[in-house]
Amino acid sequence: MGIDIERQEKAKEYARIRHRLLAADLVISALAFVLVLATGLSAWLRDAVLSLSTNPFLATEIYFVIGIAVYALLFAPLTYYSGFVLPHRYGLSTQSFRAWVLDLVKGGALSLLLGSVVIQVIYLLLRQVPDWWWLITAAFLLLFSVVLANLAPVLIFPIFFKFKPLDDADLVNRLMRLAANAKTRVNGVYTMVLSDKTTAANAAFMGLGNTKRIVLGDTLYKNFTPDEIETILAHELGHQVHNDIVRGIAVQTVLTLMGFFIADIVMRAGIAWLGFNGIADLAAMPLLGLALGAFGLITMPLGNWYSRVREVAADRYALETTRNPQAFIRAFEKLANQNLAEIEPEAWVEWLLHDHPSIGKRVAMGKAYMKTESPA
Ligand SMILES: [Zn+2]
Repeated sequence: MGIDIERQEKAKEYARIRHRLLAADLVISALAFVLVLATGLSAWLRDAVLSLSTNPFLATEIYFVIGIAVYALLFAPLTYYSGFVLPHRYGLSTQSFRAWVLDLVKGGALSLLLGSVVIQVIYLLLRQVPDWWWLITAAFLLLFSVVLANLAPVLIFPIFFKFKPLDDADLVNRLMRLAANAKTRVNGVYTMVLSDKTTAANAAFMGLGNTKRIVLGDTLYKNFTPDEIETILAHELGHQVHNDIVRGIAVQTVLTLMGFFIADIVMRAGIAWLGFNGIADLAAMPLLGLALGAFGLITMPLGNWYSRVREVAADRYALETTRNPQAFIRAFEKLANQNLAEIEPEAWVEWLLHDHPSIGKRVAMGKAYMKTESPA
């Protein structure tokens, strides 16, 4: 088997287009936020909203919903191209337009619901504790993300995917034994129907605490051998054993705290400059978005670097527990071919954008392990 050279050409092309789309997205977003603030459009919308309702919760909600709706409309062509046209052109999407729109609507409604909770908490804090809102917001988001991680497999993923217990007793036993040997409690092995959306393969541990489970995409189950599936799940188990979920939440919390702290400074400076009436002024909401967005962009390479470090540790765990580097290498080669993943992205692309090491590096790690295990 090995790496499919023709697929790699396509993978490179696909990645290049995606990077251009990301750049366009960032430039347009930044411009839109700056223009809305600088032209007084945001202040005008705030006045219009307040003439409808002076109730602070309702006014916040109306401003937020209108803002998100305008943003979604502005980005509709880009969303359609990058979410539907492009994955179809490269044979990655299996969704009909109707099904794609339905997923988009469901995802939008969910984002609006969760976003509304967060924005209401932020503005309540901005009104009531303007000196410490950033600190309490970060604490709230920590709690919120833990609760969501726990509820995701039972409440959120089923909105988009069909799950059923995997009816392959041999494989289930094998994966449960793998988890038991690592003293990781798992609430069953499930398959998730991905094939009606994508050709790409995937597997994961989902949930937190009592909802933790092993999930195999049907696109993985159908195309990978039990040895290859075991190696991938051993990698996922590595994350569990290394407490990477807790580490990830901790790193995210530090970044969130810093982000909101800086947003507080930016907003205080911007309010005087842009003539808003205080930090809780709804008209300053795009400034909050801009500050958080810029901070997120600047710290993205840092977060990605940390993630890649954890991924390497999980790969090592997979090799050491399964002791089957051949299956490890084959699994990654299959993933590269099937998911149209670039095996050797340019160094700056990997450094800036990738939260996983390149497949080229992961295969090389498998080969290095093979040498240490069986010296010729
Ligand atoms: Zn991983």
